[in-house]
Amino acid sequence: MPDWRNPPRLFIPGPVHVLPEVLQQLARPTLGHRGKEYSQLHGEVTGMLKKVLFTEQNVFLSTSSASGIWEGAIRNCVNFNETVLATSCGSFSEKWASVAKSCGRQVDELKVEWGQATTPEAIDKQLATGKYKAVTLVYSETSTGVINPVYEISEMMKKKYPEVLVFVDAVSAMVGMPIHFDQLGWDIVFASVQKAFAIPPGLAVFAVSKRAMEKSKTVSQRGYYFDFQEFAKSQEKNQTPTTPSIPHIFALHFQCEKLIKEGMENVWKRHKEMADYTRAWAKQKHALFAEEKYASNTLTTAKNVRNINIGDLNKALQAKHNTVIGNGYGKLKDLTFRIAHMGDITLRDIKELLGWIDEETK
Ligand SMILES: *Cc1c(COP(=O)(O)O)cnc(C)c1O
Repeated sequence: MPDWRNPPRLFIPGPVHVLPEVLQQLARPTLGHRGKEYSQLHGEVTGMLKKVLFTEQNVFLSTSSASGIWEGAIRNCVNFNETVLATSCGSFSEKWASVAKSCGRQVDELKVEWGQATTPEAIDKQLATGKYKAVTLVYSETSTGVINPVYEISEMMKKKYPEVLVFVDAVSAMVGMPIHFDQLGWDIVFASVQKAFAIPPGLAVFAVSKRAMEKSKTVSQRGYYFDFQEFAKSQEKNQTPTTPSIPHIFALHFQCEKLIKEGMENVWKRHKEMADYTRAWAKQKHALFAEEKYASNTLTTAKNVRNINIGDLNKALQAKHNTVIGNGYGKLKDLTFRIAHMGDITLRDIKELLGWIDEETK
């Protein structure tokens, strides 16, 4: 019988497995969120996050899941009479487009089929109309395991459309794949901590460019909870506008120290090694869903070409090894399955897991 007191080890693309020493951080004595101790913690964490994201601009902590920043990006940086180009290549990018519409903004979707990436050429063609003030991009589309070529897209945009704002959902990419926020010229990037930061869910981190902060001053009805101006005001005191989830911030401090000690290049390399191994396995034993050059380094989506019953496979993995993998997302539920290789999961863990899957699918 499933029991939340003894949950399976997670290889789903979020939340991911959390190490016991990280869990312990969440049990530290609490702090007053307007006290000096909290400010010290906050300052150290945001300082480290700037190194993780290669930015000298604003980094904020939001006690919400990352979906809140979908809304925050739109409500802060797009006026009601402006149109957003929302690139769409899977469930999360589609959802962001629908969130932008629900905020009353005009949205044009640039869609490709699930499993494909959005190219710089396709975006260039749309932006050439001169109609758009902002573009939304999902770095690693977790529903399909596809990455968009965000570095190439950014190069193109810096050259040809420097005035267009760039908002990037890096929820399943941040930490696992390169982000040089300032150099890329991005305006907003964000992630939840339950993906490659390998912390339990409940906190999001985001960076905002100086020009996006300026823009937000000109946008009306920004709301309160995700108002960037509120975040900036509190940030001056190394605080957040509302009471933050301090336990998560303890854990984030612990994880950021580890990342910086390891060095981000090494962290990305470690993720790539796990991805290379998992992709090679998927190609040999099943098939890759994404085109290889657009396959994410934080999760692998395998095409279920052998018609394996993924529900039964997961039941067996759980019964024998107390482990679960991800089924396909939404309309891909039985057509694919997903294996997360991010955060504190190691290549050794992946090899063991893939061996177990092989045993069940001989
Ligand atoms: C997980 C995920 C989200 C949603 O994150 P929440 O923490 O549930 O808000 C959004 N976008 C992508 C790409 C994701 O992987």
